[in-house]
Amino acid sequence: MIEHIHGEIRLLKFENLSRQPGLVHAMTTRPQNYAPHRGTGREEAIRWRQEVCRILGVSYDRLTSPSQVHGADVLVVEDLDIGCGRDGRGSAVPNVDGLMTDRPDVPLILLSADCPLVCVYDPERRAVGAVHASWKGTVARAAEHLVHRMQAEFGSVPGRLVAGICPSAGPCCYEVGRDVLRIARTRLDDADGCFVHRDGRMYLDLWRANRQQLESAGVPGESIETAAMCTICDTRFWSHRRDGETAGRSALFVAIGQ
Ligand SMILES: [Zn+2]
Repeated sequence: MIEHIHGEIRLLKFENLSRQPGLVHAMTTRPQNYAPHRGTGREEAIRWRQEVCRILGVSYDRLTSPSQVHGADVLVVEDLDIGCGRDGRGSAVPNVDGLMTDRPDVPLILLSADCPLVCVYDPERRAVGAVHASWKGTVARAAEHLVHRMQAEFGSVPGRLVAGICPSAGPCCYEVGRDVLRIARTRLDDADGCFVHRDGRMYLDLWRANRQQLESAGVPGESIETAAMCTICDTRFWSHRRDGETAGRSALFVAIGQ
């Protein structure tokens, strides 16, 4: 990802998505917290959201967020959804982890402190979608589902989609128990290939699992960019695993340009 500094705010952008003229996107970093319901400073989180919207040239008033419930459901943004969740989770689009839109200037915001956020863009159809793929969402195949939903809603051809997998807990640090492996084995095609065994411990490779799903849904491997930045050991990011309940949230902003 490419770093962009705007005063106090550092933003990261995927190289592949940056080359798409119709798309606006950025992943945020610490120290700013973008979740009004997490960490400290509700008013500040809203102010940082407004500031990022200003930097990206999109409307804060139309900022729209899924409520993120560790599932795999993805909805298309409808009229009444626009602006929901801009001021916090309480007003977010309920019961979903992902949203999609083809409308200009309906910026989507998704939050993370270790969970991968996965974004796909259809340059021909000018439609974008993003999903929060926690380990539960990942084993529920959220990223694959997102591609299928893009096909169903927008007629997207998977072979022309461009995708990014945001910074998240990495295989270097994301230790999990056998309970996770057991569930993954019932749902993923190559579950064992997504777990790394080291010194008697087991680590889940969320990047590999999400890349596999995008590829199996038809997105070309060369069109998928993995940030490959681990939120647990890279202190530029918020990490629930590292910081516990006091962790703020990083955010992915993504929008069809005006
Ligand atoms: Zn790490």
